[in-house]
Amino acid sequence: MRQRTAIVIGGGIGGLTAALALDRRGWSVTVLERTAGPVPASAPGSRAQSARPARSGAGIGLAPNAQRALDTLGLGDAVRAMAAWQGAGELRLPGGRRLARTDNAAAVRRFGGPVMVAHRAELLALLAGRLPDGALRTGAAAELVDPGEPGPGGRPARVRIAAAADRATGTDGATATDGTRATDGATATGEGAGVPGGADEELTADLVVGADGIHSAVRRAVFPGHPEPRYAGFTAWRFVVPAPDRPCTAHETWGPGGLWGTVPLPDGRIYAYATAAVPPGGRAADDERAELLRRFGTWHRPVPDLIAAADPAAVLRNDVRAAAAPPPAFHRGRVALLGDAVHPMTPNLGQGGCQAIEDAVVLAQLAAPDADLATALAEFTRQRLPRTMDVVRRAERIGRLTTWRSRPACALRAVLMAATARLTPDLALRALDGIADWRPEGPTYAAGTRGTRTAAQPKEHE
Ligand SMILES: Cc1cc2nc3c(=O)[nH]c(=O)nc-3n(C[C@H](O)[C@H](O)[C@H](O)COP(=O)(O)OP(=O)(O)OC[C@H]3O[C@@H](n4cnc5c(N)ncnc54)[C@H](O)[C@@H]3O)c2cc1C
Repeated sequence: MRQRTAIVIGGGIGGLTAALALDRRGWSVTVLERTAGPVPASAPGSRAQSARPARSGAGIGLAPNAQRALDTLGLGDAVRAMAAWQGAGELRLPGGRRLARTDNAAAVRRFGGPVMVAHRAELLALLAGRLPDGALRTGAAAELVDPGEPGPGGRPARVRIAAAADRATGTDGATATDGTRATDGATATGEGAGVPGGADEELTADLVVGADGIHSAVRRAVFPGHPEPRYAGFTAWRFVVPAPDRPCTAHETWGPGGLWGTVPLPDGRIYAYATAAVPPGGRAADDERAELLRRFGTWHRPVPDLIAAADPAAVLRNDVRAAAAPPPAFHRGRVALLGDAVHPMTPNLGQGGCQAIEDAVVLAQLAAPDADLATALAEFTRQRLPRTMDVVRRAERIGRLTTWRSRPACALRAVLMAATARLTPDLALRALDGIADWRPEGPTYAAGTRGTRTAAQPKEHE
């Protein structure tokens, strides 16, 4: 039987996971990433040799649902080895008062595993390093030309890789929501590398995966009338700083119009994030670290210390956007959409990347080598659309609570949170009920069957 071909547009968390999952399913996969892309890590089992440790950027929380999805690809242990347990976490007020505590033992009891936090660039490097040699093409800005038509008498999908001259404008000029482009070493240096000789290149494939992030041009091409993601009412800052002198406990602190989060990373560094309810499109006149000092500099320690330790150039700022409406489907023709391209969500549940990983694994499980593609893609929409849209709505509801600015309303919110936390100790975890407990088909660590092979894990890839 002819090996089926897949093109993945976008080499973020969703695209790389999809490429790995399809590769393990026997597809011949090419990932087209318009930036210089992640540098593959030479982790044990990696097929790539080079390594460049990431020193800046942001962290990412990986809940048990995402870890179990990665388990089916034989990647769960590697990810857990490079991640830290989120551990004990506290919900606090700007003055320092503790409203509630959570701990990972409760997450293990509730969801079968802990929430882990990894450095994004390291996660991307790990995923990229597990791809077959040559599968990841960086500096390759791609455009969907034709979604194709599956089935007898159908036609392949067509993708154009823009020549270097076109690349200056890119497809939408947007930065990935994970913000890794600016600071992780995967800078825009790769953009403009272009097709050698300066001519466009056209590729055909049996399947195209649109994993090109929140400003997805693939989504726009397959559903032209669908509304763009809408501003969620707040902007987010993220940065990573070296380990502070004194130990630091994970906390999220809610104040009027914004919040602050501090998360220790496995190597001792600290991942910090903050949000504020401000109009979209804003940028600090001086620099974003100065903006953080103005907004959070009087909050409890270690917040001011972490801001002081940040490199102003390494503070990422992104306006947060979420899906304005459910798309008609997650597929059209031979194209499947996944991740932020199809269900952008606010970060309040830490699930955008986790859902992209779930999407990727489910897509590959459905797209078995002998499966009818049209049926597989319809089933992909049937399984993924309602689930991810539910997560979008739930995250947005929490996001709205964090934008309250009135001090009396925030004081009442604090009283209610403290009281609810006393009555329901696992309050923060409840938000992830029905989400973090998700299980893919196939064995996962939580099932105690780690290392068992399934049809989706051919031996040569273990
Ligand atoms: C403040 C904040 C905190 C977050 N925290 C978490 C968290 O803790 N846990 C979690 O799970 N999620 C979190 N998220 C969400 C998460 O970052 C995203 O959901 C996730 O990165 C989406 O992955 P993706 O692969 O779909 O898209 P992206 O990561 O945006 O990747 C898309 C890729 O496509 C490339 N691309 C775009 N256009 C083209 C083109 N034409 N040709 C080729 N390549 C192209 C881009 O360069 C990019 O590399 C957070 C988000 C924010 C904003």
